Amino acid sequence: MKIIAITNQKGGVGKTTTSVNLAASLSALKRRVLLLDLDPQGNATMGSGVNKNGVTATLYQVLLGEKTLNEVKLKVELGKFDLVPANRDLAGAEIELVNIEARETRLKAALGSVIDDYDFVLLDCPPSLSLITVNALTAAQSVLIPMQCEYYALEGLSDLVKTIKQVRANLNPILEIEGLLRTMFDNRNMLAQQVSAQLEQHFGDKVYRTVIPRNIRLAEAPSHGLPVLYHDKTSKGAQAYLALAVEMIKRGEKNG
Ligand code: ADP
Ligand code: MG
Repeated sequence: MKIIAITNQKGGVGKTTTSVNLAASLSALKRRVLLLDLDPQGNATMGSGVNKNGVTATLYQVLLGEKTLNEVKLKVELGKFDLVPANRDLAGAEIELVNIEARETRLKAALGSVIDDYDFVLLDCPPSLSLITVNALTAAQSVLIPMQCEYYALEGLSDLVKTIKQVRANLNPILEIEGLLRTMFDNRNMLAQQVSAQLEQHFGDKVYRTVIPRNIRLAEAPSHGLPVLYHDKTSKGAQAYLALAVEMIKRGEKNG
């Protein structure tokens, strides 16, 4: 089982879009996938077709030790993966966790009970370096970083790399960068091309070959509560996330 935190402290860079569509694409390739929504906004929950206000339990109860992951997870029919939902309740966990023992390792402990049930566990992180994100970075083996190739992207990235180093030193020595993913890419944009080239220079093989283009179908799909694969399979967005899933699986096989 590989646990991957999909994270970037910046909002609107494609974390949730990547989480939901990678979950659906890996499932379509016959991998067993669990997606955890770690953001109180519940966008990954809604984007998977689950009404965040209609669920009885969320990741909140899991983090506070009131329920197990197995009790809270749901089956996403169109997408064929399992989901642990989130909604505004989760914002409360941030405060309540502060006074709880082993507050950084709550998620890691909870995931121990499903270790044999999945090939991939994807953690859709909130846009902050909150205690919930620290829980994700402590539970994960690796970090997948979606980013837009724009002017401040590299600066934001160096902050994130610092955070990863800190977590590695203090909480999770095995944490590594799974890969950097260029999202909402527009090939006609000169700046995007430049930033993209710099990214490859600095991070080499860590940058996925697969690039996610800006694609209207990807933006529409959440409003239907569908991964793009079930909204418009032939769209550039759907094909890009399938290609990413294939690239991830191949990389994993190569690295043993
Ligand atoms: P984050 O989770 O990092 O905040 P989201 O995945 O929610 O980012 O994406 C932010 C917005 O951009 C959403 O409205 C989403 O639908 C849209 N979006 C994300 N990726 C793409 C893309 N490749 N093409 C077009 N729109 C996208
Ligand atoms: Mg999000």
